[in-house]
Amino acid sequence: MFRLTSEEMLVRSFRPRDRKDLELPAGVKFPLFVRNYLAWRDPSGTSLRVVFSLPGGVPTGILLKRNHGDKQPTQMCEWCHTTGGSDEIGLLTADANSRKRVGIVACLDLRCQEKIEDAANRGGKSALDAEKALLERMGKFAREALGIDLSGAGRD
Ligand SMILES: [Zn+2]
Repeated sequence: MFRLTSEEMLVRSFRPRDRKDLELPAGVKFPLFVRNYLAWRDPSGTSLRVVFSLPGGVPTGILLKRNHGDKQPTQMCEWCHTTGGSDEIGLLTADANSRKRVGIVACLDLRCQEKIEDAANRGGKSALDAEKALLERMGKFAREALGIDLSGAGRD
């Protein structure tokens, strides 16, 4: 759980390169309490945004773009490990820097959290460990693939 106290804080969770054209999720009010992560689709429908926070870090936003034309029959989300068809799970890409984009295969609606909870409920287990692992995978992608400092350094 983390708290976004203002629109400015939400905007600043993204790197400067990802703040352009940022539109807030519909109906959002501050302060906003976020359990695990906040995800929404830009009005254009072609990009998704996710804001998460790991213990000891600051809220961190990632801008992801849909990659059309990738039509694998069944794929597995690298974040929540759910499998599904190409309408549900596919390649999303993000800027590592101005010359390089990196991809991740993930749920196209970013509803990883709900899927983890559904699976835990069906199995009669707690979702806590799986949710923690999910956030760690998001953090790893941000840090290792995109080079984002989760402490918030370098975002001004
Ligand atoms: Zn997922």
